[in-house]
Amino acid sequence: MSENDELHKGEEQDHVQQSDPKDEGKDSSRKFCYLCRRTENQAGPLVQLPNHIHICNPCMQRTFDMIGSDNFNIDQIFANLQDPQNRKEMQNMQQNMQEESFADWVKKMPGMPSNVRVVDLRNQGKTEKQEKKTGKGNQSGEGEPPILDISAIPAPHKIKASLDEYVIGQKQAKKVMSVAVYNHYKRVAADYEDGIEIEKSNMLMIGPTGSGKTYLVKTLARLLDVPLAIADATSLTEAGYIGDDIESVIGKLLAAADDDVERAEHGIVFIDEIDKIAKKRDAHHRDISGEAVQQGLLKLLEGGEVEVPLGAGSKNAMVPMVTVDTKNILFICGGAFPDLADIIKERMNKHSAMGFQSDLKDKYDKEDNIIRKVAVEDVRKYGMIPEFLGRLPVIFTLDALDEEMMAQILEQPKNAILKQYQKLLALDEVKLEFEQEAVLAIAKAAMKKDVGARALRAILEEYMLDIMYEIPKDDNIGSVTITRDYIEHKGGPVITMRGLERGSHKFQGRIAASGT
Ligand code: ADP
Repeated sequence: MSENDELHKGEEQDHVQQSDPKDEGKDSSRKFCYLCRRTENQAGPLVQLPNHIHICNPCMQRTFDMIGSDNFNIDQIFANLQDPQNRKEMQNMQQNMQEESFADWVKKMPGMPSNVRVVDLRNQGKTEKQEKKTGKGNQSGEGEPPILDISAIPAPHKIKASLDEYVIGQKQAKKVMSVAVYNHYKRVAADYEDGIEIEKSNMLMIGPTGSGKTYLVKTLARLLDVPLAIADATSLTEAGYIGDDIESVIGKLLAAADDDVERAEHGIVFIDEIDKIAKKRDAHHRDISGEAVQQGLLKLLEGGEVEVPLGAGSKNAMVPMVTVDTKNILFICGGAFPDLADIIKERMNKHSAMGFQSDLKDKYDKEDNIIRKVAVEDVRKYGMIPEFLGRLPVIFTLDALDEEMMAQILEQPKNAILKQYQKLLALDEVKLEFEQEAVLAIAKAAMKKDVGARALRAILEEYMLDIMYEIPKDDNIGSVTITRDYIEHKGGPVITMRGLERGSHKFQGRIAASGT
């Protein structure tokens, strides 16, 4: 039966019902919501509007959420609709508006803002407000095309070149990711008429804390202008347990897509800390929960339909459910997998110690970045179940950051932290400079914290606090240079007054070295 037939059938049934008011409520399955088409049994009590139209409570709520009325209150509207005076008014309206369209009528509803567009609601399209929001993630500005247009499927080298502008090092990871993303969106665009179905390019990225896993995914999603949801595997639980159930990640993605189902279906989901849901390797303590979460994720990774609440971002609890197909959603799982290196070494030492060309049995013990040599069997040994790994065909690693990379991260990316501070002070017309040795000293200090590039901002903030506090006090300050002595607590930054930039009149140590 076509959608139209269904609609008309509903209208006929509804008409019968309207013609005999005594029947009203006897068979609530015959009434259906004009917008979501669910029956009263499915959607809950329906509000009756003129022209035999009914609307369910969640759709009513959604209407108002979509048009962005902040002070709208569903209870109040319901009270309005139940109010005998309003009911009478509606009946009068009904008599006078036989020819009027539903859209016109909606505008006349008590408390309804005039800019509601019913066509948009029915097509799950976007109101003007949402259309604007759609371009939000696009850093080139609202309304402008994204840097990488997924409909034109950018070639892998172009994707990588864009990533290079933001992400330092991690060459192999960027390359693998660019190819996987390219294949993923080609797969989305491809048809299956010839019976060949391209496998999904879901990814598993392995790398130490602060090496840029989340940052890579975020940058990719921003460049492609696709919605991104980031979830923590440790917060996911099987249905019925305390925590977020597994489908909630799709709810997050839908919220990131401004409730646009189609956009969400082409989005990216990043599940962090995936190593934390590994089965325990100790045979005596079988970790059921981690394994169950892996099992629960299978359906999402593979592609299946999930029901999620629409408008999960809204404050109101009464939200309709929508179906999202995960078949074209790109899933990227990431984790630090501590101790994985030991498993890899063990395997490699075992191989090299065996057979004809046997080698030293601890040959690989001292090798750097051994993690690059990871094989699926190592991750399986770590505790990820084979079915789960089977759905993440692209596995790659990120290197631990060294001092040089840290220094580059401070200075080079398009939105590098140092550039951000320079911009902030430039707004006060003060030039901020960093001696190269100071940059290296910050990188060195960050290395000691052992949390990757995350330490950089924290360290820099500590030093910049005094500067950001003191500089605006004196309009005569023209430039500030951060020196290695300042970073090593042996002196202060070099401050130069306006008009004296040419060198000789430097005021040293006006700002004391940070006390830490
Ligand atoms: P994790 O690997 O733990 O997910 P993140 O991606 O959250 O680490 O990294 C923390 C921050 O460090 C990022 O927000 C980013 O600013 C910076 N960062 C980390 N790695 C890199 C990198 N390779 N290039 C540029 N910035 C990076």
